[in-house]
Amino acid sequence: MAPPSPSRPNLWRRIPLWQKILAGLALGVLAGALMGENASVFKPIGDIFISAIKMLIVPLVFSTLIVGITAMRDPQKMGRIGLRTIALYLITTAFAISIGLLASTIFQPGTGLDLSFDKPVQAEEAPSLVQILVDLVPQNPIDALAEGNILQIIVFAIGLGISLTLIGEKGEPVVRLFESFAEAMYKLTEIVMAFAPFGVFGLIAYVSGNYGLDVLLPLAKVIGVAYLASVLHVLLVYTGLLVLLGRLNPMRYLSGILDALVVAYSSASSSGTLPVSLRCAQRNLGVSEGVSGFVLPVGATINMDGTAIYQGVVALFIAQLVGVDLSLMDYGMIIVTGTLASIGTAGVPGAGLIMLSIVLAQVGLPLEAIAVIAGIDRILDMARTSVNVAGDLMVTTLVGKSEGELDMEVYNATSKD
Ligand code: ASP
Repeated sequence: MAPPSPSRPNLWRRIPLWQKILAGLALGVLAGALMGENASVFKPIGDIFISAIKMLIVPLVFSTLIVGITAMRDPQKMGRIGLRTIALYLITTAFAISIGLLASTIFQPGTGLDLSFDKPVQAEEAPSLVQILVDLVPQNPIDALAEGNILQIIVFAIGLGISLTLIGEKGEPVVRLFESFAEAMYKLTEIVMAFAPFGVFGLIAYVSGNYGLDVLLPLAKVIGVAYLASVLHVLLVYTGLLVLLGRLNPMRYLSGILDALVVAYSSASSSGTLPVSLRCAQRNLGVSEGVSGFVLPVGATINMDGTAIYQGVVALFIAQLVGVDLSLMDYGMIIVTGTLASIGTAGVPGAGLIMLSIVLAQVGLPLEAIAVIAGIDRILDMARTSVNVAGDLMVTTLVGKSEGELDMEVYNATSKD
């Protein structure tokens, strides 16, 4: 019998997913450049993709976390993981905002620019720490699940997971139910991800077709500085910490997170990217379900290094634009409020722009200047969301390594899907 001739579906399957997603990104940029605003016809493809990954978030996080905790069988370990996670998230965020401030100080993106703005803007309130803590506990877990309140879902899932462990054999049927449910959710994620190249194409075609050079050029410098600071943060801080604290090869981390980076970049939503991040952490980096199921959803909600970089870069940009000299005290204020504001930023498109008002108000900069940035915010949002997601995955890897919950064989495997 003649060997089967290579048919098209086979060829399509043989190309790794990340390459197809990158191709979708490149073709999307091209389509937008060629078609201009007409490229909006592709937006519905992107919207369907985003809805499909959002559909996964709640059931995936809930089941993964319960399965992970029951597999760990050690509530104390959970406490340790929690502390390490929060500490690493805070440290990396403080680094991020400092790098943003440094980049804007060196490159002065706002100096010599003459841009007008007059729309009044209302300042947001920084979230209070006590309120964040009070809001962690759901009054009704079904409400939390229905509203997609990730932190409350995590609290309930941890409680349920620990209880299932404590009741031993009696908990087995429920544990098995969640194991099977989680497995089905992984499969569904895989199915949705097969659609990612098309979704990314649709999203990027829309963005690139709707942002003409006339909008981008006057602000090219601040965009360049924000992108540069973002890349430096990932290349210096993340890979540095992976090497220093985890003794891990950072290249494996970078290649393992590519899918998540491209989806974050095109969707500008770290919460929306969560199912993809979970998949990258488990399948490409080898982090256990318990650690990734806890560290990533927490990160997608509170760890926003890209947003912190952006707050630093843009606050200084605006100070330079209006000719205000900031004191050392102001810099300190920006670091503290920027960190808090980034924690309070939701992982959805455009949230960072709204939180920027907290930082500006704190150091007395005009809130109206936000209007200057608003026109190009999506372009900045794409970069900051990518860093937000990269940061979550870096901390997940480090915490996994420190707890013996990182499968080194998977981490060091050269071919990542
Ligand atoms: N879009 C960002 C995210 O989802 C948040 C922001 O606007 O800074 O991570």
